[in-house]
Amino acid sequence: MRKPVYAGLEAGGTKCICAIGDGPQNILAQTRIQTTTPEETLKAALDFFSSAAPRYGALAGLGIASFGPAGVQQDAADYGCIGQTPKAGWSGAPVRAAFLPLGVPIAFDTDVNGAGLGEAQLGAGRGLDTFAYVTVGTGIGVGIIHKGRPRLGAGHYEMGHIHVPRGTEPGNFAGTCRFHGDCLEGLASGPAITARFGQTLEALGPEHPACDLEAHYLAHLCATLVQCHAPERIILGGGVLHAKGLIERVRAKTRTLLGNYPGPASGKASLDDYIVKPELGDQAGITGALVMAMQAARARTG
Ligand code: ZN
Repeated sequence: MRKPVYAGLEAGGTKCICAIGDGPQNILAQTRIQTTTPEETLKAALDFFSSAAPRYGALAGLGIASFGPAGVQQDAADYGCIGQTPKAGWSGAPVRAAFLPLGVPIAFDTDVNGAGLGEAQLGAGRGLDTFAYVTVGTGIGVGIIHKGRPRLGAGHYEMGHIHVPRGTEPGNFAGTCRFHGDCLEGLASGPAITARFGQTLEALGPEHPACDLEAHYLAHLCATLVQCHAPERIILGGGVLHAKGLIERVRAKTRTLLGNYPGPASGKASLDDYIVKPELGDQAGITGALVMAMQAARARTG
């Protein structure tokens, strides 16, 4: 019998990463596809999996970690489909269904939940019962991983869109979220930073007031996470966190916001190992997609 291999798809708004692996950290083949129309993009991914997998083994499962909003409830009619999105042509796109021709079990979740699962198995979430995985990039996404599974309500969480008190803003910035204006994502995502300051946080440097402002917003998210979910750790990932000096300021401001109130972060002299970066770095998403593929394959074989 040929050895099983797994397919992972990290579907992003600008690019998709497709990988074949015999384990989540042993990638045998990988490709990157520009995200254009759903038809073109999903067909290119399907073609890659169909042609690459047989070279390495018998394909046993596919995991899809997709940009959102997306249907993640397995028994719902919109499971595996993209929700209402400003991304042209993608509203309602049946992402999961496009891969049914592979004839293998398919797991589907959001990109942030997928990355959280990667960190749960192989990164900074190992051995923890409950933790939060946050990504701050083009958008802001938050996944709560509990006992190795992403927590869901009637759909996936949208904590990137909470409202937070404004920091010291230059001018009268309206925010970039097309739904809410100045929600957290509208004030603290990568595009919100460049809309105000003309450059990324990394380029502006740690002494620029933008770094302190960004830390203010992310600290409010972290304090809210502590109070709503009591996570054992908060993992902060995404491109914006590459900025030097940012995570240190988020820790300090979160500490101040929490005060001495009892909770999972209380009694810690510093939050250095409470608010951390992902151990898998930018590989968290594709690693998580492969973890999902293995879980789907295992669920079928029992
Ligand atoms: Zn919003």
